[in-house]
Amino acid sequence: VKRCAALQAAVLLAIALVFSGQRSGAQTLPQTRAERSGYTETSSYADVRAFLDSLRTGGAPYEFGILGRSAGGREIPYVIASRPLVRTPEEARTVRGTRPVIFVQGNIHGGEVEGKEALLMLLRNLALERRPNVLDSLILIAVPVYNVDGNEELGPQERNRPDQRGPAIVGRRPNADGLDLNRDYIKAAAPETRAALAMFNAWDPDVFVDLHTTNGSLHGYALTYSPPLNPASPLGQRTREWLAELQERMRTRHSIEAFDYGNFGTDDTPWQERLIHAAATNAWTTFDHRPRFSTNYYGLRGGLAILSEAFSHDPFERRVASTYAFVREILSLAVDPRAAHWRLRYRGSVPASSVPVAARITRNPPIKNVRIEQVELTGDTLRTEPGLRPGVLRTGRFQSVRMPVYDRFDPTVQVQLPAVYVIPARLTGVLEMLAIHGIEAAPAPEVSFVRIDEFRVESLLQEERTVEQRREPRVRGEWVQSALPVAAGDYVVSVTGPRAALIAYLLDPESDDGLLTWGFLDGEVSPGAAFPVRRGVPAARPRR
Ligand SMILES: [Zn+2]
Repeated sequence: VKRCAALQAAVLLAIALVFSGQRSGAQTLPQTRAERSGYTETSSYADVRAFLDSLRTGGAPYEFGILGRSAGGREIPYVIASRPLVRTPEEARTVRGTRPVIFVQGNIHGGEVEGKEALLMLLRNLALERRPNVLDSLILIAVPVYNVDGNEELGPQERNRPDQRGPAIVGRRPNADGLDLNRDYIKAAAPETRAALAMFNAWDPDVFVDLHTTNGSLHGYALTYSPPLNPASPLGQRTREWLAELQERMRTRHSIEAFDYGNFGTDDTPWQERLIHAAATNAWTTFDHRPRFSTNYYGLRGGLAILSEAFSHDPFERRVASTYAFVREILSLAVDPRAAHWRLRYRGSVPASSVPVAARITRNPPIKNVRIEQVELTGDTLRTEPGLRPGVLRTGRFQSVRMPVYDRFDPTVQVQLPAVYVIPARLTGVLEMLAIHGIEAAPAPEVSFVRIDEFRVESLLQEERTVEQRREPRVRGEWVQSALPVAAGDYVVSVTGPRAALIAYLLDPESDDGLLTWGFLDGEVSPGAAFPVRRGVPAARPRR
């Protein structure tokens, strides 16, 4: 849809009037493309930039910046919103302790479009509200369209999002290089990921929220959510408490049923069978614990992290509304003086003495009621609505079914946290990745080490299946005392602070999603030899 320049000018003038505090009617508010089209279309990249420009030229009291450039060469816009306005990480640090920093991103998967629309609407509405609101108590960093390239790879919903009820034309899942950005948080192969990690390192948000759409299971929830699923996440349990409160608020304040993210079936159920409905299965199972996924990664950094998944079979307008309500409630909870849970991030920064570096789905799931929409299988080959498979008819009737809920993971490998990891200088790829993850590696201190341990590799196997063009290695072995001293030129990484679990996950040889997993130690590992990254206890703590 081409916009008429005169109309655009009129809209800009109207916005300017709104933000300058003059009288205006509701019809003059800047509208998202979803709103303008009656929720038949979603915003293009150009629409998002134009909407943000409208906010800026209209005088919205925000900082507008660029996260970085995508693989396809597009700038990824972000907005910082707070009153008074905080523009830089340095300014944010001066109000740290009183104001949480909340980072919310939409559209990491290009066809899952409601997070983008909800964030644009939220930025507009928060700026327009005359009364005090959450912006007086927190710092919001919003990235409405993170996967800018995927957003522009438009195609029919039947192809790009087969189990989603509109809009008719949406983007696709990966970025311009074909990478799924929500598998990239450890290997950081995409420029989008590197830009996001640099933003995390600079701002150190207290809460990270990632907005998605479900993949098709016909459950009975308008929105499903997940805490960080890795058992090493320091604030995983704290996040579950937040989510219980958010579930209650969604029900009582918005009449929206929400629940832990999942699909029908168990981990062994073929994916395609999981998607239809519960009739053939009797379990509810979440996704994955590994930190290649955004919220699991952010949890390992010591933060609170929340995955939001709007129900793909709801009409687009309702999905936007559910996502909007959920984000708004997260912001409200983050500043609730009774909750003030976010402060616990810093209490959680004292690392445990040991952490898991590998896990599997729990063998002891709780039994819970799961809400299910009853469906009729008509035997007919006609499609009854977009995103619904032929022969499936929804009824709008719901029932609760008791079933095991596999919503968590149990550790399979637990390691003692060392004082430091010792890294030989030749591992430049490892050292570079640590810097990308915001972890400092310093030249080894000139102090003696009380003890150095090395991991004796007994076996090196590769997984059968190929993931992201790789067969992942698995090593087995044991830690033994090393005969070799720390050499001049070695680097050490202190295992302290909120990121201790992430450091262990990146560097430990038995980690199921570390730097070894992603090839940064290729050629360095062989049976019978020592793993090149060692663990040490210096006589004195190295200077930070
Ligand atoms: Zn997604």
